Amino acid sequence: MQVIKDQYIFKFSKDNEPIAHATDGEVLRFLTRDCFNCQITSEEQTMETIDFEACNPATGPVFVENAEPGDVLAVDILDISVADHGVVATVKGFGVLSERGVNRTKILPVRDGYVHFNDIKFPAVPMIGVIGTASDEKTVISGFSFNGGGNMDSRKITKGTTVYFPVRVPGALLAMGDVHAAMGDGEVCETGVEINADILVRVRVIKHFKLNWPVTETDDVWFVNTNGVNCDVAIQRGYEEMLRLVSNAYGWDITDSTMYLSLQALVEANQAVLDPNETDDEGPVFRVGVPKLASKPRLIP
Ligand code: CA
Ligand code: ZN
Repeated sequence: MQVIKDQYIFKFSKDNEPIAHATDGEVLRFLTRDCFNCQITSEEQTMETIDFEACNPATGPVFVENAEPGDVLAVDILDISVADHGVVATVKGFGVLSERGVNRTKILPVRDGYVHFNDIKFPAVPMIGVIGTASDEKTVISGFSFNGGGNMDSRKITKGTTVYFPVRVPGALLAMGDVHAAMGDGEVCETGVEINADILVRVRVIKHFKLNWPVTETDDVWFVNTNGVNCDVAIQRGYEEMLRLVSNAYGWDITDSTMYLSLQALVEANQAVLDPNETDDEGPVFRVGVPKLASKPRLIP
């Protein structure tokens, strides 16, 4: 099996040289570094001391053969193993609560499937924070999100789910990193349990299917992941894309599909720290979901 490791991108760009080629259907292992690029090794180091330009390394990119613009790249998340400790940190200016406390770093043990925090423990549910494909029109730093993925920070991107990406450049140029052993919706201090990881995925190409934003498929829900300059814009984009997918797959017109979303949709925050943002790419990321229905076609074939 190919192991994708040791080379990292800090921007999603069509100009990144692929470090490996994969065939349609191939299973790959990605070794990823934590979002600090392993710059934090002790609790004495607070976040303002690190180099932010060196953060959010994404391992890759991988060129997937047969993936052409207009196709969809499906990434089945087969497994995510994490290291035995991760880092959570607060720093002034990160997140809406940052003025309430001090800059602090905690190294959290991850043992026997649990994250240990202060005098409690809670289940580790490893998720991939940064995962994406290249854009044909812009370069996006890996700390931000865009319509090819990037720092989506969805706690739904876990073992057993599939993430679908629009392919906008030949080979798609898949890269990933920034695993969290656990994260809350919204990620209010801008860090989860930041951790090194070993990820097993299968890549598949779905020919000629239009997708405008990445979609996550869980056991029972389809989620569209969208970002925007603020929450309203991000959520509206999610509704628009879900409306299109539901209407196309279920054969309902826009009005019936709108009614259905009004009756059954989920709206959840991936990452919504409510900083004032200058551009879309810096803005919050949401997921709009609908239940998977056995009696209806899949939203993505
Ligand atoms: Ca992240
Ligand atoms: Zn992270």
